[in-house]
Amino acid sequence: AKEAGKARYEIFDRVMHAHAVNQLQLESDLRDAIAHQELLVNYQPIISLTTGKLTGFEALLRWEHPSRGFVSPAEFIPIAEETGLIITIGEWILREACRQLHTWQLQHQLSNSLTISVNLSSKQLREPTLIKKIEQIINETKLNSSCLKLELTESMLIDNIEAVISTMSQLRGKEIHLSIDDFGTGFSCLSYLHRFPINTLKIDRSFVNRIGEENENLGIVKTIITLAHELGMDAIAEGVETQQQVNQLKALGCDQAQGYFFSKPLSGESAELFIATHKI
Ligand code: C2E
Ligand code: CA
Ligand code: CA
Ligand code: CA
Repeated sequence: AKEAGKARYEIFDRVMHAHAVNQLQLESDLRDAIAHQELLVNYQPIISLTTGKLTGFEALLRWEHPSRGFVSPAEFIPIAEETGLIITIGEWILREACRQLHTWQLQHQLSNSLTISVNLSSKQLREPTLIKKIEQIINETKLNSSCLKLELTESMLIDNIEAVISTMSQLRGKEIHLSIDDFGTGFSCLSYLHRFPINTLKIDRSFVNRIGEENENLGIVKTIITLAHELGMDAIAEGVETQQQVNQLKALGCDQAQGYFFSKPLSGESAELFIATHKI
């Protein structure tokens, strides 16, 4: 038994070691990814549930690794955050997404319609130069700042509340929209939610994807929508996959939705085709 335990431990140890080596390799590869232009942006359509029209896109990072193929952001964003690379990568996707939306607006004569939502990491939010960088990107890309939406997670609202409120207020002062992503998963303290200048609550996919058949989580989704409206915010449901979910969300007064039912995240080219073939 002792021998078997030891063997098991050695296997465990080897697996752990392989994992660590893999992480280190990914980290060093990620450093090259920007320079080698292996990062790209996908765009997932967001749809108004009241009009059925396209309202904008969420920009989602993709990494096409030369030998591993596509690496999921769930795998490399944590590494980017640990190593601080998220600062450079985050600035890159922000610029790329703003530039892309402005190009589409010009090409399709959309003036200031459609929005682009970009995910912000906690490291970026705490960066003293964030506001300056965003200002620079807005000037450079000529995008109207009210077309930019930044997505933050609930956990970013917990520490250093006053500093976070100050940064958020400065962004709101520039007419940039602020959304709370994955709402409902972070156990944020509801009693101080109203202190943050937030425009939108995005209901996490884990709640949305079970309202269809089992009506499980319907109460949670209903509560989040009501909460958003009470606080003067709007609600976006993410991870919407079925017509049934769409119907229920509409009945609950949810404002917008995003998910495979409407479209998977698209390449820039496909997203442009989506604009050309959908009502806006
Ligand atoms: P997120 O911000 O919650 O993004 C939504 C995720 O749900 C995306 O996964 C999207 O592809 C997926 N999704 C959308 N609709 C559906 C659906 O109907 N069904 C299912 N099963 N999934 C759906 P993705 O692209 O793999 O991104 C994962 C996470 O990585 C994002 O979650 C976000 O937290 C992070 N991420 C992605 N891009 C960036 C970025 O540029 N910066 C930062 N800081 N994080 C990013
Ligand atoms: Ca998001
Ligand atoms: Ca989300
Ligand atoms: Ca998420």
